[in-house]
Amino acid sequence: MRSLRNDEIRLRERLSCRYFTNVFHVNSQIAFLFVLSFGFVFLSSGLSLSGAQPTPAAGPKNHQVEPASLKRALAGISTNGLLRHIRVLSSDEFEGRAPGSRGEELTVNYLVTQLKKLGLKPGNPDGSYIQNVPLMGFTAQPTISFDTRAGRMEFGFPNDCVILSRRQIPEVNVQDSDVVFVGYGVVAPEYGWDDYKDVDVRGKTILMLINDPAIPDPNNPSVLDDRMFKGRAMTYYGRWTYKYEIATAQGAAAAIIVHETGPAGYPWFVVVGSNSRENFDLQTPDRNLARVPIEGWLTLDNARKLCAAGGHSFETLKRAALSRDFRPVPLNSKATFTVKNSLRSVASRNVIAKLEGADPKLKNEYVIYTAHWDHLGRNPKLEGDQIFNGALDNASGTAALLELAGAFTRTKPAPGRTILFLSVTAEEKGLLGAKYYATHPLYPIEHTVANINMDGINVWGRTRDVNVIGYGNNTLEDLLASFATAQGRIITPDAEPEKGRYFRSDHFEFAKAGVPALDSKAGDEYVGRPRDWGKRKRDEYTDRDYHKVSDEIKSDWDLSGAVEDLQLLLQVGDNVARRSDWPQWKEGSEFKAVRAEMLKGRR
Ligand SMILES: [Zn+2]
Repeated sequence: MRSLRNDEIRLRERLSCRYFTNVFHVNSQIAFLFVLSFGFVFLSSGLSLSGAQPTPAAGPKNHQVEPASLKRALAGISTNGLLRHIRVLSSDEFEGRAPGSRGEELTVNYLVTQLKKLGLKPGNPDGSYIQNVPLMGFTAQPTISFDTRAGRMEFGFPNDCVILSRRQIPEVNVQDSDVVFVGYGVVAPEYGWDDYKDVDVRGKTILMLINDPAIPDPNNPSVLDDRMFKGRAMTYYGRWTYKYEIATAQGAAAAIIVHETGPAGYPWFVVVGSNSRENFDLQTPDRNLARVPIEGWLTLDNARKLCAAGGHSFETLKRAALSRDFRPVPLNSKATFTVKNSLRSVASRNVIAKLEGADPKLKNEYVIYTAHWDHLGRNPKLEGDQIFNGALDNASGTAALLELAGAFTRTKPAPGRTILFLSVTAEEKGLLGAKYYATHPLYPIEHTVANINMDGINVWGRTRDVNVIGYGNNTLEDLLASFATAQGRIITPDAEPEKGRYFRSDHFEFAKAGVPALDSKAGDEYVGRPRDWGKRKRDEYTDRDYHKVSDEIKSDWDLSGAVEDLQLLLQVGDNVARRSDWPQWKEGSEFKAVRAEMLKGRR
């Protein structure tokens, strides 16, 4: 019915409380056994990935890590080491690390130099540390107008309305296209949901709500129905990338999302910031001519005005969209868009290094750590500070990748499987470096056993908990839980599943490709702080610094918690690289089927 890939759809039911209880119960068993078995030898061999119960040694004896070497490796991850890298990468000299800029040159050179220094081998089989990623930069100059019953409305770019075209051609025009409100714009067969019904929106301008339908629980209308679109959690149907994909599948001429801060997960300035400068896409053979011609966002205020001008109340339309029986509503307006695209091909790069596996056979299987090196660059139009330093996002994760790479060289014997350290470009432009790797892998994706991603490390001190984004997806979280227990910590599910974070960083491209992928963050419970302190810090960061020029190293940073988190990530990757079984997608994960298909007949 639609051209969306299977792996992007069919999102499943929410986790039950019973499940959490099980996990934590099992964790305490593991902790108990851990004490008995004295240390990491047990953990590197005894935990089953396939189910909840620990099993006898799963990994071959000769692949167990020497505890002393693991200890050395863990101790090798330091706050000073992290800060040293962050300081360089987030310096003004690196100009905010925009793909295709002088900042990229400096960043890529820095990464390659550091990885060489650590003694890691080139990650590209061609003998280099580089994977070329051909990007197309495009800067849109749009004009936007709507002819309504109440007269012509012109919207200014980018403050009223953000419009662009991903078609890689110099000019795109849409003339007098009927405007139709399509609710959430979702087609989800597994929920019996189709916002389009039999309405043909080909050539039309569709106006859509962000996020997925927020259906109240019939038994308790104060909360969302967990059986519909994962309740409070955002499913992929809620993500803006989905909205444009479905618009393409439906043949629309333009797809405009109404911005609302809560459901989007970020304020309007983030939309403006990421769409009003030069944007990027991967270069494609068809120049993206199959895509919906016009993609955009409209502020809530302007959406209200547009609806009113067509004789409708936005709020009423929005309420109607919560029903399975919703049908598209013509807004009695015609939209005209022109987008002049300045195009420029940009040669950007992923940086990749490897620690070759010690086992002659297993070394052809891969554990891949990722962190994006890019950020938003500089904006010469700004007064004063123009540089988006991206200290937290993601100089910090890039620093973490380097620290992990260094730490891994100390584990003896080296893991049986090969560990890849991949620093990807253009995450901020739509996970493009990761997407390029996942679709042009340097090593077979079906031999890639796990992805562990780092995007922003914890800079506010030690936490009692570790947050798993997209909790319940795969068994990597069980390994993480076991090592967290050994640190006297617990894992917790994503505190804000409504923000759809699992779809918002590079691991998602690996998940889409079927590779079990872990994205974790520090939790909220900061040691020695009031209970709501962590949430306040995080909200403060989102409000003040996220994607702003002020994302810089702060005097109150405390990386001790990040070191603990990275020690966990090292142990998870090390364990996966040594054990006999592979991480698995869990039942109910939308990525499980892709993996199963990929591995058919392989093992
Ligand atoms: Zn990031």
